[in-house]
Amino acid sequence: MSTLRFQALREASTRKPVKFEESDRKSAIFGSNVFNDKAMRQYLTADAFKGVQGAVQHGTKIDRKLADYIAMGMKEWALSKGVTHYTHWFQPLTGITAEKHDAFFETSYDGSDPVEKFGGAQLVQQEPDASSFPNGGIRNTFEARGYTAWDPTSPAFIFGTTLCIPTVFISYTGEALDYKTPLLRALTVIDDAATEVCKYFDKNVKKVTATLGWEQEYFLIDSALANSRPDLMMTGRTLLGHTSAKGQQLDDHYFGSIPTRALVYMRDLEQQCMLLGIPVKTRHNEVAPNQFELAPIFEETNLAVDHNCLLMDVMQKVAERHSFKVLFHEKPFKGVNGSGKHNNWSLATDTGVNLLSPSKTPMSNLQFLTFFINTIKAVNDNESLLRAAIASASNDHRLGANEAPPAIISVFIGAQLTKVLAELEGVTAGKLSPEEKTDLKLNVVGKIPDVLLDNTDRNRTSPFAFTGNKFEFRAVGSTANCSNSMTTLNAIVAKQLRDFKVEVDTLIEKKDMKKDDAIFNVLREYIKQSKKILFEGDGYSEEWEIEAASRGLSNFKTTPEALKARISKQSLDLFSELNIMNHVEVEARYEIELEEYTKKIQIEGRVLGDISKNHVIPTAIRYQNTLIANVKGLKDIFGDEFENIAKEQIILIKQISKHIEGINSNVVEMTNERKKANMLTDAQEMAEVYCNKVKPYFEIIRKHCDKLELLVDNEIWTLTKYRELLFTK
Ligand code: ADP
Ligand code: MG
Repeated sequence: MSTLRFQALREASTRKPVKFEESDRKSAIFGSNVFNDKAMRQYLTADAFKGVQGAVQHGTKIDRKLADYIAMGMKEWALSKGVTHYTHWFQPLTGITAEKHDAFFETSYDGSDPVEKFGGAQLVQQEPDASSFPNGGIRNTFEARGYTAWDPTSPAFIFGTTLCIPTVFISYTGEALDYKTPLLRALTVIDDAATEVCKYFDKNVKKVTATLGWEQEYFLIDSALANSRPDLMMTGRTLLGHTSAKGQQLDDHYFGSIPTRALVYMRDLEQQCMLLGIPVKTRHNEVAPNQFELAPIFEETNLAVDHNCLLMDVMQKVAERHSFKVLFHEKPFKGVNGSGKHNNWSLATDTGVNLLSPSKTPMSNLQFLTFFINTIKAVNDNESLLRAAIASASNDHRLGANEAPPAIISVFIGAQLTKVLAELEGVTAGKLSPEEKTDLKLNVVGKIPDVLLDNTDRNRTSPFAFTGNKFEFRAVGSTANCSNSMTTLNAIVAKQLRDFKVEVDTLIEKKDMKKDDAIFNVLREYIKQSKKILFEGDGYSEEWEIEAASRGLSNFKTTPEALKARISKQSLDLFSELNIMNHVEVEARYEIELEEYTKKIQIEGRVLGDISKNHVIPTAIRYQNTLIANVKGLKDIFGDEFENIAKEQIILIKQISKHIEGINSNVVEMTNERKKANMLTDAQEMAEVYCNKVKPYFEIIRKHCDKLELLVDNEIWTLTKYRELLFTK
């Protein structure tokens, strides 16, 4: 008998690394498939080039005529590279990218020869047939359709033979139907707010850019093996499977060299990334077997988000050539580490200063402290919003469940900066004495760069850690679109910076304070108000859960609970006050995310029911029949003595029956709970029932299946096992 499992194992074990020609120098090919400045200079008229630059740098509008010229140049460039189609590339709320390809090729009505056409109209706006993208009721209530509109701040690129034009996706009444629109709005708001605050320190600052450097974790599994697991194919994770005898205990993968097949894949992938202008820099093994990480040089946030979305696509496509399947799921395997997507975040001025990087002079360090403390205060005041921004069915497996970071949001800053904050907290209320100021400048603020040099005690258990010159938001899920977390983070910091500016200005104007005194005074109060969010200890410990609860920090372990914060008054007010999302847009997102949660659990429940009933049980019965035949044979030979001789077999037969019964009865109960849940009309309630009534059966059913996997003859087990999925190189 040759089950899919054994075919797959044969295929995977004889696989050779594919031949791959590496190009010469990375720098020589970097961005050659991107319509970047270099390409624009070559293919655009001076006016058209200036138009794009203006739109990118100052948000100026591009009129139709100019759009026609830009489209013409873009088309010529694309055709010169063998491109045949174009697409508006966007990020609907499903979390993946969407595209609809149209050919440049057009025939004409007047009988002249067919030509390649692409005008300003096609560049600027398109109407995808998008009625089936999730919209949380926005389009039903307002308009029937949405449209995509060009985002000139993220350059067009070529993927395969298609010109991809990054776009936003909005309804005809202007509501955002995608991830990019609110992100762009949030980036504008943080630019304005941070620039205003920078002016206290440097009048020359005209623009502040939020930067993002993500780190993407993933698993690489042989495609034949992955395809042999219906659960992996349909849900992205294994719903059952006994842990392999060897897991990640030895840490040998983490410190080991990258396996050859994986390395060849990575080199091919990196070459594709180079062509697409994604500045990938780091690759290494991760903790779990067959788990890896890839990280680029950080970029402006909108571009970095686009690059991460594009990368996830490219990774999967390149993997096909190498007969791999990339698993982005946060927890594809029970008992081994899951994957995350660390979001490294900072703010940079157009004068070249990283606002979260301490530097040599006390004055610029006061600027550093201002942004540092305001960020902490923002997280302190909005921790539940940040938690909601990273909530998803798959990320629940990491947050607050089997592994960390915990579902509790806290900020780690390290021992030295903790000391600095403690000293700042002691500054005089009101005007500072000259001695105090000198002391602060020389001994507290002035010494920050020195103390930071040896601030190496990074706390890996913290969901939000300061790492020397940036904050690292580590709780983001590996499948997530970074927009969600970045929109929220930039929004809460922007709001905080606005409030800060008002408070400092008030002290200067009403209390006749000097600027520095006013800043010190406001920061001192912020430090006092933000104590509850700072935590330097072990985020995985039980003590922290207790401590966090006493501090009043939220600890939402599941998505339905966590998402409620999205529609709190605080959240609705925040996003509408900043013009990032109106109430309808926020509520729509909340609903879509709840629905997505419900659907994911629903699908997992169905798949688990199916494979346990048509893979596990039939196999178990087949093996049980073998045992029964064996016992009968023993009886024939040994007569009455057989009971003693066949003792173990009889125990096995009974155990198998017990587990089969366990699976059957629990699948029935789970199905009943699902049916009850499906009757509900309220999205929140339905998600909660799926979470609390349906999902608990997964573990119970799995336990019986996994026990059977241990009992049943390996030769007839149909599902590819953990050791095979995780250790095939
Ligand atoms: P690790 O966290 O694994 O030790 P690093 O500290 O070297 O690694 O950096 C991790 C990531 O931080 C990289 O992807 C890098 O691009 C990003 N990063 C570095 N500086 C900044 C910054 N100013 N803004 C945003 N991201 C940054
Ligand atoms: Mg990191």
